[in-house]
Amino acid sequence: MAAFRVLAAVLSVCCVCVLVEGKFMVYNTSGGAVSGKLNVHLVAHTHDDVGWLKTVDQYYVGSNNSIQGACVQNVLDSLIPALLADKNRKFIYVEQAFFQRWWREQSDLVKKTVKKLVSSGQLEFINGGMCMHDEAATHYIDMIDQTTLGHWYIKRDFNVTPRIGWQIDPFGHSAVQAYLLGAEVGFDALYFARIDYQDRAKRSGDKKLEVIWQGSKSRGSSSQIFADAFYAGNYEPPTGFYYEVNDDSPVVQDDMDLFDYNVQERVNAFVAAAINQANVTRSNHVMWTMGTDFKYQYAHTWFRNMDKLIHYVNQDGRVNAFYSTPSIYTDAKYALDESWPLKSDDYFPNVIKLCIRYADRINAYWTGYFTSRPAIKGYVRVLSGYYLAARQLEFFRGRNKSGPTTDSLADAMAIAQHHDAVTGTEKQHVANDYAKRLSIGYEECPLLNISYCPATEVDLSVGKKLAVLVYNPLGWKRTAVVRIPVISENLIVSDYTGKVILSQLLPIVNASISKRKFHASAYTGGSPSSTPKYWLAFTAAVPPLGFSTYVISSGQSSASTKLIPKTFDGSQTGGIEVGPGSLKLIYSGTDGKLTRYINGKNSVNISLDQSYSYYVGSTDELQASGAYVFRPNGTYPIQSGEKTPLTVFRGPLYDEVHQTINPWIYQITRVYKDKEHAEVEFTVGPIPIDDGNGKEIVTQIKTKIGNNKTFYTDSNGRDFLERIRDYRTDWDLQVNQPIAGNYYPINLGIYLKDKSTEMSVLVDRSVGGSSIVDGEVEIMLHRRLLHDDGRGVDEALNETVCALDTCSGLTVQGNYYLRFDPLGEGSKWRRSFGQEIYSPFLLAFSEQDDKWTNFPTPTFSAMDPSYSLPDNIAILTLQELEDGAVLLRLAHLYEVGEDKDLSSLATVELKKVFSNRKINKIKEMSLSANQERSEMERKRLSWKVEGSSTKPATDSRGGPVDPVKLVVELAPMELRTFILDFSSNLVQY
Ligand SMILES: [Zn+2]
Repeated sequence: MAAFRVLAAVLSVCCVCVLVEGKFMVYNTSGGAVSGKLNVHLVAHTHDDVGWLKTVDQYYVGSNNSIQGACVQNVLDSLIPALLADKNRKFIYVEQAFFQRWWREQSDLVKKTVKKLVSSGQLEFINGGMCMHDEAATHYIDMIDQTTLGHWYIKRDFNVTPRIGWQIDPFGHSAVQAYLLGAEVGFDALYFARIDYQDRAKRSGDKKLEVIWQGSKSRGSSSQIFADAFYAGNYEPPTGFYYEVNDDSPVVQDDMDLFDYNVQERVNAFVAAAINQANVTRSNHVMWTMGTDFKYQYAHTWFRNMDKLIHYVNQDGRVNAFYSTPSIYTDAKYALDESWPLKSDDYFPNVIKLCIRYADRINAYWTGYFTSRPAIKGYVRVLSGYYLAARQLEFFRGRNKSGPTTDSLADAMAIAQHHDAVTGTEKQHVANDYAKRLSIGYEECPLLNISYCPATEVDLSVGKKLAVLVYNPLGWKRTAVVRIPVISENLIVSDYTGKVILSQLLPIVNASISKRKFHASAYTGGSPSSTPKYWLAFTAAVPPLGFSTYVISSGQSSASTKLIPKTFDGSQTGGIEVGPGSLKLIYSGTDGKLTRYINGKNSVNISLDQSYSYYVGSTDELQASGAYVFRPNGTYPIQSGEKTPLTVFRGPLYDEVHQTINPWIYQITRVYKDKEHAEVEFTVGPIPIDDGNGKEIVTQIKTKIGNNKTFYTDSNGRDFLERIRDYRTDWDLQVNQPIAGNYYPINLGIYLKDKSTEMSVLVDRSVGGSSIVDGEVEIMLHRRLLHDDGRGVDEALNETVCALDTCSGLTVQGNYYLRFDPLGEGSKWRRSFGQEIYSPFLLAFSEQDDKWTNFPTPTFSAMDPSYSLPDNIAILTLQELEDGAVLLRLAHLYEVGEDKDLSSLATVELKKVFSNRKINKIKEMSLSANQERSEMERKRLSWKVEGSSTKPATDSRGGPVDPVKLVVELAPMELRTFILDFSSNLVQY
């Protein structure tokens, strides 16, 4: 009996087996939107950070998994069979830095399969840049470059152009992203997740999460975009619908022969979540973001569950679910023909609530990362200007067919724009990886700022000469002081005609020498072989898009001045006047503080005070100050003692004022003979932490300007936006953090004004700043913190440098620039000098022997000698492409109404810009140059704005370019992108 029972049991199990095999289930996933129903668009996606806790390569190959179990290769490998299993399944992919790594490794067969998936719409590339760039700490030129690079790859490999902006993780959203990197690259919509929690609450209640965003008042409706802030503030599925292998959401169990059958329960949960979302979303379409960071490493689990959800939810019939993409979702919204609320300005700054575990999120302003890792931010900006200039030189010389090109720098710069790269919110080892990538391909003296440049430190007393080639990447003639470290003192500088020109020698102070020794050792691994004694300075005058050569040789001349420092110890009565030209700075003779700024040229005479202070970073366990979050716990002025000794170097070209503010802040202020601004070089660090406090260092410039809470900061270095202290345009602000909550990102500058005067401060990198009290500008220069702020990076922002057997906190050196103007006259300086800060002279050095007398080409300009670009136009890109065509981008630098003369239509004569070459063909392109502009405009969706008339968008653009005349017009803030084909008969320069 027993044996029979066992046999029967085995048989019945076998019967069950047969039965199970026989009930293969086909899920109906074929549906689309159904009118009259609530449509749930399931958008399958993965968010793959191009470096954060691991480096970009570690994320790609899946190494270093003890930090984070993430392997992008697994995502892409598993995705393809999962999509092939059902033609209704869809997926979007975003980060081209990863996709390109994967694509290079695939067989022809896989490539063919993937191309089919792309052309059928199952796999769609959205956003399409190399990374999902940050929007606060990035410069618009870098955003354009990295987007262009990714879009080109997609165009080259798949012949498609992304339609959708997908900025789901950056910690705030900029006006430039909306109008320039959104509308002007041809996107029909822009999706993102992170906005301030107060803003979100208001918008949710008013059903205004979806808007038409006009990011630029100059470009207006011609560059507007549909923009949607995700209702939940994240880019994840609703709770309970996560399907990565180890996720704890309930899978859909629809096999009645197994335990835990839960179809109805899951359908009910699905319907409830959909209705919840529909309550804050306009129309009967909602999007579910089915994925999050590094998901789909085993894509089948997600698709298996979504197949079932779609099948059973649609069988249930209360709501309608289907596989979708942001493009399909956008088209569905557009097809409704509704009007949407208008949004201007931007989404900064933010308190972002991430996790309900933390109750105290009202203090979590994500404004620390505007300044975090200031050295990397500075490095990125230096290389940005260098990359622009290097591509110009590559074009003039002809792109190398084999051998070095600017491509590796392009790649490193693109990755560095990621929202955990230039932001400073990555782990230290990842920050090191970005810096290493950037250093490859950078050929100038990288430590010139700390007077380390072996090429110039040659002994010229033995009959040698040093040729200095000074390249000007701007389209207008430019004169500026060049400074290089030298070891000899009897030197003269000649221009290319042999004429000796004015120069000055400034002794390098001891404080600088020790910094130089430490950092040069950290950089080279050994001690520098020589020690320069002086900075040699001379004025270089360089034609547009061209170079001039100068020769440094030993000799003595009245034109060469060795400066003698004069130190004031505080016993001086009256003021100390500094400045060889029209600008004079007056310092107090008793306490050494800056007291007055007088410009004889424009009659500005203003009293001011400049100081430093620090915030102690909060260590509150609910919310500490950290890499992302700025949460100050008290402000402390940095006292330089009762008296600040001043050391003044007076020279014919410029004066320098040296001040030791405290043992870890050194400041040099330069006043040039021919400039009307003051240049302040700050050296901050190592920030002491032996008192157990993390510190965030700021400088303040105080005046009596009555700016009435109002100030202006740039959006990614382009448009200036009005900021009002303790106020937001879109909601009634509850002020919880009066300092951190008024901080804004600054990439170009900050200014404020009253009825008579404007004060402008321009910066050399991305920083955070504000006007915390009337009349005052504050910028944050450096941060060193001892606690993590609980946003995932799990490290304190405590940067150190090790060399010569010691490690110390990172020292940061940089510049800011200060100028006052009569009301209405400040923008000329902010725009044209701002462009000069971005694009400094590029220097190249060549040591020559005594017999050498002349240059083959001592001076050069690509332009017609009688021509230069108008003052309101800059060349953003001049680049030879792989196929020999040339990419040209021109930008109008002024906004509507910004300047009485320069906010006007400007023209560029291309024949004169390229005076030695013949342009055969010109094609105007979209901003990322992946489609013709006419094509982009033809396809672009034209959204309607609530309350406005239905007339078509006004388009204040320059007219079409006549292929014979080749004159380009640009309206205020317009940016135009062209592909040029030159005749092959190059005129040799
Ligand atoms: Zn991210």
